[in-house]
Amino acid sequence: MLKDAHDRIIRDLRVSLTDRCNFRCFYCLPNGEPPLARKDTILTFEEIETICGIFVDLGIEKIRLTGGEPLIRKDVEKLVEKLSAHKPKLKDLALTTNGHTLPERAKKLKRLGLDRVTISLDSLKPGNFKDITGVDKLDDVLKAIDAAKEAGLEPVKINAVVVRGRNDDEVVDFAEFARENDVSVRFIEFMPLDSGHEWKREMVVPGREIRDKINEVFPIRLKRKSRGVETAWNYEFEDSSTGEIGIIAPVTEMFCGACSRIRLTADGQIRTCLFSNSEHNLRDVIRSGASREDIVDFIKAVVLKKEASHHINDSEFVQPSRTMSFIGG
Ligand code: SAM
Ligand code: SF4
Repeated sequence: MLKDAHDRIIRDLRVSLTDRCNFRCFYCLPNGEPPLARKDTILTFEEIETICGIFVDLGIEKIRLTGGEPLIRKDVEKLVEKLSAHKPKLKDLALTTNGHTLPERAKKLKRLGLDRVTISLDSLKPGNFKDITGVDKLDDVLKAIDAAKEAGLEPVKINAVVVRGRNDDEVVDFAEFARENDVSVRFIEFMPLDSGHEWKREMVVPGREIRDKINEVFPIRLKRKSRGVETAWNYEFEDSSTGEIGIIAPVTEMFCGACSRIRLTADGQIRTCLFSNSEHNLRDVIRSGASREDIVDFIKAVVLKKEASHHINDSEFVQPSRTMSFIGG
């Protein structure tokens, strides 16, 4: 079992497959990716598989593949198939995607062992979708949601980053979308992890405000009194409609005390927090020919360094140099 110095058990591994992306979401990667990392610094699928296998043996139960845009990486299906061989110890294999190429791949991914997907969707209006993401692909993302449902990659979750003045007028429309499409729409507060370093506190729409706006039109109630290790407070509609609302408020309602996550970047660095200012080079350990025992010792020592909490709300907060697109959201 992986336990940190603050008695938190680590059960959730997020693996970034690439820092490349075909979207340009203004809150993530507005000016495109940094220059291409040397290809040999990016972990191979064999290395990812070995690392994930060790993590599963150490008690990781959930693996989420992310990025950048994970579906850009060639043959993700093969990796999914290899990772799903770790079931049933691995209880949940998920993918976060912008929906790109999902319609034609959803069924195969499901067949090879992917359990579920989270799809990002920040606006239901074509013009605003393009303003936010830099691409004119709202219809494609809507098709991806349908394809995910059809393939049984459920529960399908939708991530919407809410930013003041950009899409906060669409919150109730999103709640309606959740009801009509029987999906979980999760509203996420904008975090200071954008490559443009444009984040300002005034741009954050507090989770509480989002909940109140929805509640006025579609009354909602908490599904559970405690959220356990989940980052989202999940709500159901009081009129028993289908669909669910999730509110993820890392800025205004910090949830670090229950964090069970650890992250692996595309170039093989372990990050113990989204907001860490340091990383731990697992890639070099693996490539140095270390024994399995040495790798386990390295991972356990890194986990002990997991930060008690982030410091977004401190006056001396420094935005990490790596952005969400690199760390893997
Ligand atoms: N490209 C995929 C996608 O967009 O779903 C996966 C990677 S993306 C970095 C993962 C999640 O992080 C997305 O849901 C995205 O909306 C969210 N995200 C990116 N930048 C963010 C930020 N600055 N604050 C809050 N969430 C952010
Ligand atoms: Fe790409 Fe996802 Fe970042 Fe948007 S949020 S730029 S789709 S990595």
